[in-house]
Amino acid sequence: MKPAQTATAARLSRLRAGFAAREIDGILISEASNRRYLSGFVGTAGYLVISNGGAVLATDSRYVEQAGRQAPDFRVERIKAGLDWLPRLAGELGISKLGFEADHITVTQHGRIRDALKEAPGAGKLSLVPTSGLTLELRAIKDASEMALLQRAIDIGDEAFDEVSAQIVAGMTEAEVAWKIEMAIRERGAESISFDTIVGAGPNSALPHHRADDTVIRAGQPVVIDMGARYQGYCSDLTRTIVVGNPDAQFKRVYDTVLAAQLTAIEAVVAKMSGADCDKLARSVIEEAGHGDAFGHSLGHGVGLEIHESPGVGPNSKGLLLDGMVFTIEPGIYLPGWGGVRIEDVVVLERGKARVLSHARKHSP
Ligand code: ZN
Ligand code: ZN
Repeated sequence: MKPAQTATAARLSRLRAGFAAREIDGILISEASNRRYLSGFVGTAGYLVISNGGAVLATDSRYVEQAGRQAPDFRVERIKAGLDWLPRLAGELGISKLGFEADHITVTQHGRIRDALKEAPGAGKLSLVPTSGLTLELRAIKDASEMALLQRAIDIGDEAFDEVSAQIVAGMTEAEVAWKIEMAIRERGAESISFDTIVGAGPNSALPHHRADDTVIRAGQPVVIDMGARYQGYCSDLTRTIVVGNPDAQFKRVYDTVLAAQLTAIEAVVAKMSGADCDKLARSVIEEAGHGDAFGHSLGHGVGLEIHESPGVGPNSKGLLLDGMVFTIEPGIYLPGWGGVRIEDVVVLERGKARVLSHARKHSP
């Protein structure tokens, strides 16, 4: 029986299928998440050189053994400082037009690569071609192994929220709540939080990127909690807005509007809609309620190995949302001096529709 193809072998096939359109016959991968995605190698240093027929992971002595274990579809090559190995390896792999990740390589690194090619024997046979977004586009569509890891990261975040939110009382500080969340996430097997936890109480909740500080949580104020877990590399992202004690009338109005905007987008988003059109689904609900100016950020973003990745889901996101894409839907309304409300869930597009992956409790005013 033919052994099942590994996840990384399937990803390499999809990557190679994109070579022709970019007029390359090989690619140098240096960006850390792309390197991990394509090879399985989680070390922090190394390059992938991938041609139509070969795949090499070049890394230094610290990582050779780990790379051999984690990247079964790659030949591991031990390298030293410098780049003289690159033209040799590209030659061995039969590469003449080598793509590189133009969005991730610095001008200095680009100069070093160019110099290494210039100084190599047989210089001139290999040209460097800037590429953009090739691996990111693949990463936007999640495979089964990624979905399992994402769901676990999301479940951990949901459980941590449900546990900690039930313990929040007036008089606690934002930082205390953030620490409890971090502990609850780690206790459930996550390797870390996926970004610095946001706990914004009262007026702080009107600042979408407020970090938890010594602000004391008071009864009746909105508290925005935006948090996530990282599990085996994959990130979750969850926002809930709660009130300790009794909310004011403003809260009920604002909360109901944000929730309606979120549920409208979840219900109405369909595959092959642009990110911009998805954003509009929620934004129009908030605009109709008279709060258009108070929703200053994008509706959502892709999530995976990074907390923000493709696809884009904002007013300028022209790319299409497709089956297999995982992204957040997180409308908000922020009223300076009073506070804000944001509600965020992660969804996956399946058979043309959104399926919600987050299950943390939502406040019902
Ligand atoms: Zn978030
Ligand atoms: Zn988010």
